[in-house]
Amino acid sequence: MAENTAATRHRDEGGWLGRFTDRLLVVCPRCGGRASVTVSPDRPPLAYPGQLLVADRRLSCAGCGAVAEWGPERVGAARIGVSLGGTEDPFFHRPLWLQTRCVGEVLWAYNEAHIAELTAYIGARLRERGALRPTTSMFARLPA
Ligand SMILES: [Zn+2]
Repeated sequence: MAENTAATRHRDEGGWLGRFTDRLLVVCPRCGGRASVTVSPDRPPLAYPGQLLVADRRLSCAGCGAVAEWGPERVGAARIGVSLGGTEDPFFHRPLWLQTRCVGEVLWAYNEAHIAELTAYIGARLRERGALRPTTSMFARLPA
């Protein structure tokens, strides 16, 4: 069944969710506005998508100018990848900018592309079940 396949893939946080971590929207630690967490511009281009979980990161806020750097834990020469999931970004542990309550749970997303995927997923669930009615208030925080 296509629906089950989509749901399984949705819960597979290892490879699937990771592709949205190229850019994460978080609450700025200084001003409380919207900051971005991206792969550090100082490092060479990624060789494969899995490097998104170990690559050096930069948090930057266009609103107040805050900047912070992050690097992974290391064991010898190996970089330890972050664990994905939850309502904080996995690097700086800032609250995600895009989160809202939805049918008793917190619905969260890393960025606009992630929202688009969630929207498609929720739409499929709505067509399937007809009862789930998620709030659309999350979209209010998206830039125009
Ligand atoms: Zn700020």
